[in-house]
Amino acid sequence: MMSLFQLLPDEDLISAAGRWYLMTRVGSAYSSAHYMATLLNGRMPHHLCSTVTSQYLSELRIDDRAKKAVEHSLAPFESSFLRDDERDIYQRSPSAITITGVRSTHIQRFRWCAVCVMNDEATFGVPYFHRNHQLPGVFHCDKHQEPLIESCFACGWHITSLAKQNLPPFDNICPNCNRSLESVEIQLSDSMQNIQRNSLALARSTDCTDRLTPLITRVRASVGLSSAQQNTQAERKRLTEFCDAFIDFYSEDEIESLFSQVVDFKGRKISKLMRSPRIKFIESRVAPIHPLLYLMLSLFLASQGD
Ligand SMILES: [Zn+2]
Ligand SMILES: [Zn+2]
Repeated sequence: MMSLFQLLPDEDLISAAGRWYLMTRVGSAYSSAHYMATLLNGRMPHHLCSTVTSQYLSELRIDDRAKKAVEHSLAPFESSFLRDDERDIYQRSPSAITITGVRSTHIQRFRWCAVCVMNDEATFGVPYFHRNHQLPGVFHCDKHQEPLIESCFACGWHITSLAKQNLPPFDNICPNCNRSLESVEIQLSDSMQNIQRNSLALARSTDCTDRLTPLITRVRASVGLSSAQQNTQAERKRLTEFCDAFIDFYSEDEIESLFSQVVDFKGRKISKLMRSPRIKFIESRVAPIHPLLYLMLSLFLASQGD
């Protein structure tokens, strides 16, 4: 069934069912439309390791899968910072992996670029959601440098579910108040621009090698520790100092732009993921954390002249 439905250039896999649903309704193929409607339930952007992604990819020819995963899903985000044993599980069944913090980043709603909407309507007859517009750490369209839109500035309308709003609004007009949907310009700091660039680069990466071990080895080497966990007081002290410096490197504004959920820590707002054992220990047995944290960690290490 799913192999009947193709993806448009750069289309976001999670949201594509919205467009397929609309197409099947227009073609009055009732049974397909009914099936597609069931696929829309509960679909939110940024479902790392979702069964939907594996379900769709499993319908493709094997030689197409890796390419489609890199072009249309968040597969490199899901797999790049897993431990070896987790990567083995991921290869067999991505949805068997649960990543902590998927719901705590700033990606809460499907987003679009006004220029892409106009171009896609002109070229394909419909606007659609792009994978690169749903990436954590990304605030602008990578093609047009336009700030991404996720709600109506005038009336507050936004997409609550793909079942209600299958596509970005036609002509970029608010379906609630009929005004043109405007993007809100945001000034990104150097750090945020760096994270935006690296998030796009990670999403497009075809390099599936382990990124976790080299990164955490660098973290530990930066405070004079070997890569293996030692369970000593000296190790704990050095890693606590490292963690405090990592947190201090980011302003509260930056952290609150990147995360929708923050907690108080030493008199400031942070994401609790910034203190996860996963950024200090390769062997940590807690669940994998959101890869956005590793983009932040890489940037901090680079700033240290590492
Ligand atoms: Zn665009
Ligand atoms: Zn509106």
